[in-house]
Parts: sequence; C-alpha cells; structure tokens
Amino acid sequence: MNFNSFGFSPTLMQGIEAIGYETATPVQVAAIPAILEGRDIIASAQTGTGKTAAFLLPVIEKLMAMPHDNQVKAMVIVPTRELALQIDQQMEGFSYYTHVSSIAIYGGTDGTVFSREKQALTEGADLIVCTPGRLMAHMNMGYIQFPELKFLILDEADRMLDMGFNEDILKIISYLPKKRQNLMFSATMPSKIRHLVRQILTNPVEINIAMSKPAEKIIQKAYVVYDTQKIPLIKMLLKETVMKRVLIFCSTKEKTRQLFHELKRTGIKAEEIHSTLEQAARENVIIRFKSGDIPVLVATDIVSRGIDIEDIDMVINYDVPHDAEDYIHRIGRTARASAEGTAVTFINERDQQRFDAIETLLEREVEKSAVPEQYGETPVYNPKIRPKGGNRKFGGKRKGGSGGKPGGSGESRR
Ligand code: AMP
Repeated sequence: MNFNSFGFSPTLMQGIEAIGYETATPVQVAAIPAILEGRDIIASAQTGTGKTAAFLLPVIEKLMAMPHDNQVKAMVIVPTRELALQIDQQMEGFSYYTHVSSIAIYGGTDGTVFSREKQALTEGADLIVCTPGRLMAHMNMGYIQFPELKFLILDEADRMLDMGFNEDILKIISYLPKKRQNLMFSATMPSKIRHLVRQILTNPVEINIAMSKPAEKIIQKAYVVYDTQKIPLIKMLLKETVMKRVLIFCSTKEKTRQLFHELKRTGIKAEEIHSTLEQAARENVIIRFKSGDIPVLVATDIVSRGIDIEDIDMVINYDVPHDAEDYIHRIGRTARASAEGTAVTFINERDQQRFDAIETLLEREVEKSAVPEQYGETPVYNPKIRPKGGNRKFGGKRKGGSGGKPGGSGESRR
C-alpha cells in the first residue's frame, strides 16, 4: 500500500517522501486508518516493523488540524532514553514541512538538562516523547499540566512493565483528560499487558503483526558450556574471523562490565553500554558502533529492543535471553539486507530449559557446536531434565555440547 492512499496532507507527504518511505508496512496498513478514524488501538508489533511511523504519521496529521497554542496534545511514553531520542528524531523528520512541534523529555543526571526540559515543557509543544520516570519528576514539581492532551501513546509497553514503570504510568494517566485517544504498542502480550489494556483503552482495535521467524540466512549456533568457559570462547570467536560489528548481550550490568574489561585486556577494541553510563556516553557509544569505529559492543538489554542498529555480523548471547521472543529480536539484528549474519548463544546448565523454549518458538533446533577440547569438558544438553537447586550440574559430563558429536545438532534431545 502506497502512502498516498492514507489521505495525508501534502506537507506531511513531503516529509514521508524526504525520508524515503514508499510502501507502508503491515502494521502501518492496519494502524494508520484506525488511528485516523479516532479509534484506540492495541498493537502487538516489534521494533523493525515500522510501528513508530504507524503511530506518528496519523497523530501528526491530526495535530496539523489543531491549534498550535503551545499546549501538549500528544504524549508518547517509552521505556528508554535511547528509544525516546530515536522517536524524537523520526518525529522531526516526518514533521519537518509541517507546523507540528515536538520535544523529548528523557533526562540524564545533569541539572542543566532538567532546567532545559522544564523550560521546554513550560513553553509547550504539540507532542512530547518521554520516559515515565523523568516525566513524573517534572510533573511532581507542579509546573506542567496537560489539559489539552488528546493522544496518549505507550510504546514498548511490555518493556515498561518489566522495568517497573506500571505505577508511574498509571499515575501520569491519572492526571490526563479522560477523553483522549489511546494507542498502545507492545512486542509481547503477557497477561499484565492485557490487564493494562483493560485499564486504559476503550474498545480498541486489535492489531497483531505476527512475530516473524528469523531470516534463513542467519546462521544460528549454540555452545553448551559452563559459565567459566564463556569468556575464553568469546575470545576465540572474535579472533577466528575479522568482523566489522559484533554485538554481545549479557543478562546483567556486572557481567557486561566484566566481559568488556576482559576483552579490552586482550587487546580487543570493545565498548560497553548499560544503564549506569551517562546518557551522553551511551549515545556516543551507539554512534561510534553504528559508524564502525567500535567493532565490538557489550550490552545489557538496554539496546536489545528499540534501537535500530543494522548490519551486525555477529550477535552473541552471552546468556540465554529470558524471553524467547527477545532471542528472535536480538538475532534479527544480523543478516539485514543481503548480508549473512551469525547468531551464537552460550547455554549454561541453568539456561537449558529457557533455550528449549526458544527452539520451540523457532520450530527448529539450533545447532549445538562442539567446544574445542582445550576448553575442557562441557555439560550435556538435556533441557528436559530440571536442574536441582540452581547451580548444580546435571546430566553428567560429556565432551562437546551435542553429546560428543562435533557440530552435531543436539540430537540427544529429540
Ligand atoms: P520501527 O519498527 O518503527 O523502529 O522501524 C524500523 C525501521 O524501519 C526504521 O529504520 C524505519 O525508518 C524503517 N521504516 C518504517 N516504516 C518504513 C516504510 N514504510 N518503508 C521503509 N522503511 C520504513
């Protein structure tokens, strides 16, 4: 479907054309007409589907017809600063030829940023993009109200709940006018999201953009290992081939730091990104990684969703992602366009069942590569047996993750 078919105003079409979009994506085809009609929507769609334009474009179109009186009329709430910044940048591009104004409120610890945000909020804009905690901080100071708010957009709602923002979101909403259009986007639809939908949305149109399976050209591999073998193996993988961009995901900040320092000690040009870093440092790392200046980035979940980094040669899951859909999302960062990409996952004894859930979602087994002998014995892959008491090994020991079959495909399981 062509963007002309939505009936957007010429100045908005100019922005869309300047950005270079021609055909609308499925979530845009489904959401844009419903939003233009004034309906609430709940859309299950991930980053990469074009969901940002799916809500920004019709909202900009509607804002164009409203008075530009410095009253905030649309509020986009997102989980992370990176996503706020990214949406704000897209907003600037789309609305470039229109009179619709926007500001991003996502903070940083610097006091001058807070004052700048305060000033921007008091002066007003048609649309704001904000993180919940930061917006609450401003609202608590009492100088902003939203009497003219018409659109509330919650993006990556599941992520926000995972990050503990439920109360902040409900509190923010309690200050908003009751009569408004609500648009909610979430990558996954757990029951807590359904509950939030019932609390906030009115008779919503449900849009379900099916989770796409990873592209065939992504080579997926896993190593069944003990935790102590992960760092030596990563070093091996990084030294094996020259790669332009490698993204490594760890489950905690501590592991991210540890791995980053370990790689640096070995002379590998790497950087780290997690929530402890200042906002400016995080943005700088992302820019340098995107530009190819840093070949290896060690990250917590902070960049796993929402951030649009393409052309990654290899994604390494240092730990198995908690959410099976996150796995698909992470590895989807490789093998974009015509390039090939590799996704490698380390599975320790405790993560085997979690990986099994991923294979179930993928509807296929991922090859369990043999760990070279010099790294010692490895656990057997047997996810159907529950590990007793957290850290205990189970299933005995054998060489090679696939039950001694180098490069085998985990036949021990199925
Ligand atoms: P999103 O899911 O909103 O994060 O979008 C993912 C990427 O797809 C971004 O780089 C967008 O600029 C791009 N994109 C979104 N919609 C379209 C479209 N209709 N045509 C081409 N690219 C698009």
